[in-house]
Amino acid sequence: MRIGYGEDTHRLQEGRKLILGGVEIPFEKGLLGHSDADVLTHAVMDALLGAMAAGDIGRLFPDTDEAYRGISSLRLLERVYALMRERHMCLGNLDAVIIAQRPKLAPYINAMRENIAAALGANAERVSVKATTTEGCGPEGRGETMSARCVCTLESH
Ligand code: MG
Repeated sequence: MRIGYGEDTHRLQEGRKLILGGVEIPFEKGLLGHSDADVLTHAVMDALLGAMAAGDIGRLFPDTDEAYRGISSLRLLERVYALMRERHMCLGNLDAVIIAQRPKLAPYINAMRENIAAALGANAERVSVKATTTEGCGPEGRGETMSARCVCTLESH
């Protein structure tokens, strides 16, 4: 068994869609980035890559590459899953947390779990997604950014 950890932060900006775990969430702002800026899926990918000691998403999917402009991060997650399969590894479990002051994310959590699990060929029972505020503290609390953190285990098969 191998353990991985990943984290990510993106700025919030008007005029962008808010995509978390592949779910489009109605909100007045979205996350800024080269891809769809899905901060949750980015943290998940970095955790999985970390467990494989296979680098990070900045190296695999550089933001200087036009191929990744606006791309759904779930498509990138599928590529990480392909790297797992090459190594004969499958998801043990993952546990992620989104750090955001607003909006309320509870209604969307199960859809995020289903999307991430599907991209990894796993059951959603192996995928935990949680959300927390920072009680108004720091850049997340002021609504300037959203962050996500993830730990995972991979198993050989
Ligand atoms: Mg990112």
